[in-house]
Amino acid sequence: MKKIALLGSTGSIGQQTLDIVANNPELFSVEVLTANNNVDLLIAQAIKFQPNVVVISNEEKYLRVKEALTPYPIKVYAGCEAIAQVVEMGTIDTVVTAMVGFSGLLPTIRAIKAGKQIALANKETLVVAGDLITRLAIAHRVEILPIDSEHSAIFQCLMGEAETSVEKIILTCSGGPFHGKTAEQIENVTVREALNHPNWEMGAKITIDSATLMNKGFEVIEAKWLFGLKPEQIEVVIHPQSIIHSMVQFCDGSIKAQLGLPDMRLPIQFALGYPVRIQNELPRFNFLDCPTFSFTAPDTKKFRNLALSYEALYKGGNLACVLNAANEVTVKAFLNEQISFTEIAKINELAMENIPYISQPELNDYLETDKAARIFAEEIILKKTH
Ligand code: MG
Repeated sequence: MKKIALLGSTGSIGQQTLDIVANNPELFSVEVLTANNNVDLLIAQAIKFQPNVVVISNEEKYLRVKEALTPYPIKVYAGCEAIAQVVEMGTIDTVVTAMVGFSGLLPTIRAIKAGKQIALANKETLVVAGDLITRLAIAHRVEILPIDSEHSAIFQCLMGEAETSVEKIILTCSGGPFHGKTAEQIENVTVREALNHPNWEMGAKITIDSATLMNKGFEVIEAKWLFGLKPEQIEVVIHPQSIIHSMVQFCDGSIKAQLGLPDMRLPIQFALGYPVRIQNELPRFNFLDCPTFSFTAPDTKKFRNLALSYEALYKGGNLACVLNAANEVTVKAFLNEQISFTEIAKINELAMENIPYISQPELNDYLETDKAARIFAEEIILKKTH
């Protein structure tokens, strides 16, 4: 029985993780649930799964959660520091990091230091501070199991292979809803259009990131850290069918791919069950339903965020942290209709040009960089809207 702390239980990945737990009660139990704001769903999940501890990040909502769970033997805490603390509980085997953005960094660090296995859905943690996280994971002999579908695919392709035999990896990308559109068309897309992803059902932040190719850019950075690759070993190819989840090319020219229907429950279940594959009743892919697979190169002129990610990867230091922080601000501003779709990448790029570069950042530098980049992006947006 694996005991799980699920950080971000009310989001898309969090809910699907609980589906897997509910379908496999003999394999998994929930020790901890945490959520940011969605009190009603958190309460319902706590009543259903009976964890030991529930944490609501927004402290103003503590009393509502506490009152609702009074009849049950569930401890209730509030605040970010509480989230970072509960991951250290002795009863936890695996921490699933399914929260959004920079907020994943500190709890993930604490969980690694406490020796917990990490099932990583919060890719921003590796984007912001991949060097720090991978160093810590090695020092504490902690496994980081990717939940991101592309990285789960690569992880599966690498099983049984020597690290030195990898020539390159090929991350597949659906292209998002605006693949093939002209620059003028992209200029004027609406929030509603950007939220309408062709293949994947996901939360709002990652859906916008998929439309701008920021998500793919972050995945390039995530792959570097997870698999110890050089930037030139990571390639992105547009595959609009989203059936091949990614590929590895080996030193003999042989290529392995992992395929399946685009359903996040597959990589989540793989990470939770690892090293064992768990039988399930999810729909199966049939090749005859999808006779054509197509592949094209991504357009990094139209989708600048992907180019910015490679720049951050080649230059290193705190640049990816700047990009992530600016992007969290710009995506929020786009969702609030304060800036246009193409301004997301423009402001991200300005932040990368203007925030002081630090070549070998430590944790405190990352925290400072994150703050500075947010303020920088917010000020540009404020000037634009006034
Ligand atoms: Mg992905």
